[in-house]
Amino acid sequence: MLLETLQRYWGYDGFRPLQEQAMQCALNGRDSLVIMPTGGGKSLCFQAPAMCLPGIAIVVSPLISLMKDQVDALKTCGIAAEFINSSMSAEDRLRVATEIRAERIKLLYVSPERLVQDKTIDFLKGLKISLFAIDEAHCVSEWGHDFRVEYRQLRVLRTSFPEIGIHAYTATATERVREDIVASLELRDPELLVGSFDRPNLIYKAERRSKGLAQVGEVLDRHRGESGIIYCTTRNDVDKLHQALNELGMKTLPYHAGLPDHERRKNQEAFIEERVDIIVATVAFGMGIDKSNVRFVLHYGMPKSLENYQQESGRAGRDGLEADCTLLYSGAEFIRWKSTLDELPSDGARQAATQSLEAMSRFCTGAICRHRVLVNYFGQDLPSGQAESCGACDVCLGQLDLVPDPMVLAQKILSSVVRQGERFAMTHTARVLKGSKEKYVLQFGHDKLSTYGLLAAEDQKTICDWIEQLVGQGFLKKAGDYHDLKVTPEGWALLKGNATPRLIQPATATKTKTQAAVIEDSWEGVDKPLFELLRDLRRTKADELAVPAYIVFTDTALRDMARRRPVTLDGFRHVKGVGEKKLADFGEIFITCIAEYCREHNIASDILVPDAPIKSAPKPARPLSDSLDGPSASAIGSFRFFRERKSVAEVAAIMNRAVSTVGGYLTEFIRHEQITDPTPWVEATLVKQIEDAALEEGLDRLRPIFDRFTGAVSYEQIRPVIECLRVRMQSTPEP
Ligand code: ADP
Ligand code: ZN
Repeated sequence: MLLETLQRYWGYDGFRPLQEQAMQCALNGRDSLVIMPTGGGKSLCFQAPAMCLPGIAIVVSPLISLMKDQVDALKTCGIAAEFINSSMSAEDRLRVATEIRAERIKLLYVSPERLVQDKTIDFLKGLKISLFAIDEAHCVSEWGHDFRVEYRQLRVLRTSFPEIGIHAYTATATERVREDIVASLELRDPELLVGSFDRPNLIYKAERRSKGLAQVGEVLDRHRGESGIIYCTTRNDVDKLHQALNELGMKTLPYHAGLPDHERRKNQEAFIEERVDIIVATVAFGMGIDKSNVRFVLHYGMPKSLENYQQESGRAGRDGLEADCTLLYSGAEFIRWKSTLDELPSDGARQAATQSLEAMSRFCTGAICRHRVLVNYFGQDLPSGQAESCGACDVCLGQLDLVPDPMVLAQKILSSVVRQGERFAMTHTARVLKGSKEKYVLQFGHDKLSTYGLLAAEDQKTICDWIEQLVGQGFLKKAGDYHDLKVTPEGWALLKGNATPRLIQPATATKTKTQAAVIEDSWEGVDKPLFELLRDLRRTKADELAVPAYIVFTDTALRDMARRRPVTLDGFRHVKGVGEKKLADFGEIFITCIAEYCREHNIASDILVPDAPIKSAPKPARPLSDSLDGPSASAIGSFRFFRERKSVAEVAAIMNRAVSTVGGYLTEFIRHEQITDPTPWVEATLVKQIEDAALEEGLDRLRPIFDRFTGAVSYEQIRPVIECLRVRMQSTPEP
């Protein structure tokens, strides 16, 4: 029943991890606390059950903007949802109340301050309520990062509606917050469901901010025409970076608390409605933004805690498609953040903040798998298959420029720490290794140590970086108020030659090639120009309906359309993210657009794609023609005709299919039967010309080959020739 509902309204064909269990709780009325990272799919955990249960589900949501978004999204899926908050006119409220009383609404979003009012409670008492869902439940806790007083009063739900299940959802995982939620909401023996905090589709990368703007440019280049957020630590940085980028012809909008309200709102809307791709912002931006297709989050400065980083970078790729999280840090930031911690009121708070800051710094400089650092911090481990390499961070992708002989270098540093009696901090140690004549170095006689000047050729800053990396990898630790360096047991193993660290070269020459390969992956089979066309169409539709573009269709859905290229409503139904309502509302116009495009460019429509999820995690390269594991069922029927060397036009006539579709079958036939000679289908002289063009342009993309003939040769003619060429090349052993 749940699956059917998922398919019918959302067009999804399966559950995300823990969703099913969470939905079962909601159905059975057992209280639950569901902890999933941003983008994990929390909303569906209560929305789908609400559609299966009689009555109305009440959803508490802290932000008006978020509420409207969710309700809009539900309505486009054909679900009767409404919200009540202070932004509405009395007239609207009356209309909604009437609808509710008539039992026509399945989900009602309410702000906490409104919900706890007596008159609201009284109103709700007259209704048949299916469940209560508390979104962003960490807001009840003072230990969370977003405490809201009104959330505290939500326990009134338990007292007023003792028989109805309460379900809390959050992305904040600490033990303390968890306990607080259970206690404050008076949850009864709640099922605790904690999801994996790893976000495999995010590709993390951290590099020292050495060339500033140029590094930003690199990221933006990789993501032309895609949505992204650039976070800065100060308003001043926001203004400066925004200005600089616009001078370079890159359109961005700024967002920070210093801007007038209306301007801030306007800029945020422009971003959500995709009128501008990039927003440059302080951390003030993002809470309550549910945009699912943010393709990159770039930090132009290190956040003050790893929790902050997790949350901000987590705004990328909520649709589950790959997204790029690049962090540019500088050593000075650590010190600056550190100095702000002194203002914290209590020792406990200061200590917690210091730990988060240190974790943040280790994430940057540790040269350890970034996915691992993040999940470990949240008390989890990476899935065992990823123990060696996550495949989605600069460390594991081998993009860091590593020191060739890190063991010897690290031993020099560690021996200096030992010889100094493990009583000195990082900067002093770096000075000794550098061979500095600084006062304290001389005063302690450290210029007499055998390690004095051992790294004289290096920058002192570089030496500090390496020390940080050794701390990050657990070979050294900082102890006491003065952060004296001490050698850990792992460090002693290293001194004996029984462990190897990973140290990064000072120059940040980055290699982006591997990453590009990863990014290409989930575009497998997608016709990019068609994707762009569909994106425009989506924007037009969204404007007509006055909703954000991604509410019409997510990027995942558009890619799937541009991959499958359905030209019938039946085919359109199979696209990920197309449920019945969207099929009815948008099917016709999207398939018309797709059909026109396929006709115009003479490319195959109705491509059969196996219904397995498109993996966003990287995998080894495979031959390009290998996108399907075997021939598709519909193509197989054509094979006997091709064996008789019938032409595409003939087969199309026999099978009553479009020529473009049958052209696709021919490609499958060639691949399946390992045909090497295309002349039954393409004239010999033309074959030669196409092959010559292909050998110069490469076999990866047909477009450049097509362009060479300036329209004189069709894709239908190019495709079989190329496919035969691939078969020939694959069967020729490498010399
Ligand atoms: P969260 O609230 O946990 O941050 P959302 O509920 O906003 O996450 O979901 C993130 C994205 O994942 C949305 O675009 C949503 O439609 C999509 N999604 C959720 N569940 C599924 C599913 N079972 N199959 C496919 N997509 C899903
Ligand atoms: Zn990794």
